Amino acid sequence: MKKHLYVKGMKTLLEAVTFLFIASVILFPLRPVDAAEKIEVTDIRYWSYPEYTRVVIGLSDLADYRQNRLSRPDRLYVDLKDSVLKNDLQKTISVGNGMLRNVRAGQFSENTVRIVLDFDKMNNYRVFTMEDPDRLVIDIYGRKQVAALKKRIVLDPGHGGNDPGAVGPRNLYEKDVVLDIALKLKKILAQDQNLEVHLTRETDVFIPLEQRTAIANSKSADLFISIHANASPRRDAKGVETYLLNWTSDEEAMKVAARENAISLKKMKKMNEGRDVLDIMLSDLKRDNKRDESLKLANFLQQNMVSGLNKNYSHIVDLGVKQALFYVLFGAQMPSVLVEVSFISNPLEEKLLAKDSYRIELAQSIAFGVSKYMSASPEGQTVAKNGRNIAP
Ligand SMILES: [Zn+2]
Repeated sequence: MKKHLYVKGMKTLLEAVTFLFIASVILFPLRPVDAAEKIEVTDIRYWSYPEYTRVVIGLSDLADYRQNRLSRPDRLYVDLKDSVLKNDLQKTISVGNGMLRNVRAGQFSENTVRIVLDFDKMNNYRVFTMEDPDRLVIDIYGRKQVAALKKRIVLDPGHGGNDPGAVGPRNLYEKDVVLDIALKLKKILAQDQNLEVHLTRETDVFIPLEQRTAIANSKSADLFISIHANASPRRDAKGVETYLLNWTSDEEAMKVAARENAISLKKMKKMNEGRDVLDIMLSDLKRDNKRDESLKLANFLQQNMVSGLNKNYSHIVDLGVKQALFYVLFGAQMPSVLVEVSFISNPLEEKLLAKDSYRIELAQSIAFGVSKYMSASPEGQTVAKNGRNIAP
């Protein structure tokens, strides 16, 4: 009624029509089916291992998608909405590792790209997205490996290559500090004959975040520890903290994860509020009591880093165990944590991080935390305990 009167109040019918047209354009902007606006599927990559494969579909923007698994023959397809294939994209990629035969990409309809994965023998799979660069990740798991006698630990020194990580006021690079700590830690842990230790990188090379967990999953690792140095615009920010993967409402924790994920804080907040990561988080929860174990590991590492460092260096601040959505922990199949060993942005802590003795102390403290976790985690304890998982 109100609307009718309003339209009637206009001088001419033409004016009313013009008004309605403009209003509708404002309210419902026309989205012409224009190739320039569509999301491009830019590349298809994969990492293949005996019991695990990670497929990454590069995108020019995040696409809505729908997935469906079909049998006879066993295959999974993922339809990407409002998408087109890049002209020079290789449309069929043969993997042939016994788990995954091919990855095929095709323009299913004018607006939909269909990615098809042809399986041979596959146990389980998972689909999720990551941003900056935008990509769709598909994890495929083969049959379970026979449990290794040795416990495997994958250490992940953050950043590397053209990604220096955080840079200190005196130009100390996070990538160099954390690599050195990880190499020292490996040396210490490897002395234990019951442990097998791998690094995601042993040199100054760039490794995408999604490849790091892929390495840990491929090795059926029992633990995954990502090592970083912290940074803050507040020059006096200092201390040690340890993270596990989870949603958070803590803005400081979000800032840390945003920096490590190389995405904006705005995107990070959206990720925490949105349901985009629900799939990956639920599958994380479903993995037996993995989150309990990650929390336990985080506590051991945190306590030992703080007490170890405080023996020789006073006033090391204990920032505690926190949680946030770190890409590098997405899809990890084992208890996994990320340690921020000190603030490289703080002039005093940068000075400490530059010291060999400080790095050795950090490596020893982390190693001590790992062995305490191991001895508190007897064989079989990681077997599912019904209903023990904490809700997000
Ligand atoms: Zn970092």
